[in-house]
Order: sequence, then C-alpha cells, then structure tokens
Amino acid sequence: MIKIAVYGKGGIGKSTTISNLSVALAKKGLKVMQIGCDPKADSTTNLHNGIEINTVLDLVREKKDDFTLEDMVVEGDNGILCVEAGGPTPGMGCAGRGIITALEKLEQKGAYETYKPDVVFYDVLGDVVCGGFSMPMRAGYADKIFIITSGEYMAIHAAANIATAIDNFKNRGYASLGGVILNKRNVKDEEEKVNEFIENIDSKLVGTLNRDEIVIQAEEMKKTVLEAFPDSDMAKEYECLAQSVLEACGYKTCEKEVSKC
Ligand code: ADP
Ligand code: MG
Repeated sequence: MIKIAVYGKGGIGKSTTISNLSVALAKKGLKVMQIGCDPKADSTTNLHNGIEINTVLDLVREKKDDFTLEDMVVEGDNGILCVEAGGPTPGMGCAGRGIITALEKLEQKGAYETYKPDVVFYDVLGDVVCGGFSMPMRAGYADKIFIITSGEYMAIHAAANIATAIDNFKNRGYASLGGVILNKRNVKDEEEKVNEFIENIDSKLVGTLNRDEIVIQAEEMKKTVLEAFPDSDMAKEYECLAQSVLEACGYKTCEKEVSKC
C-alpha cells in the first residue's frame, strides 16, 4: 500500500487532479481509496456522479460512534473507495481537529486492513498547515507528499508553506516530498516562476497539466475527464501524471507505458 497526500491552495485543482489520477490507477488494476480532507467535502464528487456522501464528521455528529465502516466509505466509479472527512458546523469547532477525528475514525474502524487498497490519496487543503491539516503528513498516514501549484503568487505562497511544514517534520520519519505538480493557469512566466520555487525547496517537477476547458465540461457532467472524454489530450496528461506520481513513489511501471508519455 502506498499512501499519497496531495496538498495545495484551495481552488488550485487538487480534487479534480486526484480524481483523475485515481481513475487512471484504478484502470491499471490498482485498488484506490481517495480521502477528501477538505471541509468543502467535494473531493470525490466526480467519482460518484455528484451524489453527496455522508462525511465522517456528519456521522460522528449524528451517531457518535454508532456507525460502520460502510457508512463512511462509498464505492465510486471503477471501484474507487471514496471518503470525505467533512468539516465542522460553520463558526463552531475546528476544521483541522475535524481531519484528525476523521482519520482516527478510519483507522479505528479498520479501513486500511478491510479494503487493503494499493494506493490511498489524501486530498488536503494547504492554505493553512495547522496541526490538523498537517496530520496526513504525520504519524504514519502518508508516505509521500505532492504539492500542486500554478504560477500564481498565492498558490506558490501556499506551496512554500506546505514545503516548510514537510521540512519541519523530516527528521521524525514522517512523509517526504515526492515533488511538485504544475497545474497551469497560464499566468506570465509561469514555468519559470514554478521552477524557481522548486529549486528553492530542492525538489523536482513531477508533471505539468495544461489548462483545458474540457476539465470544466467534464465537471459539469459530474465526471472525471478520464470517464467523460477518455480519448482527449487532457485524459492522456492525467494518465502520464499518474505514472510519474507512482514512479516518484518508487513504483516500477512497464516500459511500454513510459514511451506513451
Ligand atoms: P481544489 O480541490 O484544489 O479546491 P478543484 O479541483 O475543485 O480545486 O478545482 C477548482 C476548479 O478548477 C474546478 O472548477 C476545476 O474544474 C478547475 N480546474 C482544475 N484543473 C483544471 C485544468 N487543468 N484546466 C481547467 N480547469 C481546471
Ligand atoms: Mg477540493
């Protein structure tokens, strides 16, 4: 099992990208679990046609501990196991604390042993890397972390904070940085700005995704690009990124696939 946390600024494209990576890996025959750790609770929307699922925090609020693993984990497209941590009632409670509760509940109820996923994705909001939001990179949750950014100032600012948090934990045997994914917004000198940031944090670029209207079209259909437009250029970009992410995690993929990308 490889556990991957993807961090980035809100709205940068984490959930869209991860959902497409999940589908790409599921289509290769891997069992994938995607855990949304964003109070917005929309990480897995496009994996189950937009139908809202119970969030772990809703379950805890309504049922205390009187719920099962199956109440938390919903099977989406291609057998992908979907979980949404959820968030506190607005104005009350702490979103970071909510993520800690959600991850603890998954573990207590044996999610990893029961489903035995090959790949687990944590989709984590990286605007504030407080104790709760840094939970997936600590205490044995994720093995590798990937940061998604564009060349926009605020996205790089958030990315730099995430890199600092990872660096602060590095001597404790926690997750290490797998690399950076550029999700383009087509701002001026975008690649130069992101490459400069990557050099500053001594990391590497794992992949680049172009900005493409087809992503929004798929979202309107409440589907991933891989499901809605499997033959598109964008679908191929996600497939190649999935392969690069696995390789950055030390997974070997076959040569035939490498030459396709
Ligand atoms: P996050 O999970 O980081 O908050 P989302 O995945 O919800 O962000 O993406 C925010 C918006 O950006 C969505 O409307 C999504 O369709 C759009 N988007 C993401 N990546 C791309 C892309 N490569 N091209 C075009 N639109 C994109
Ligand atoms: Mg999201």
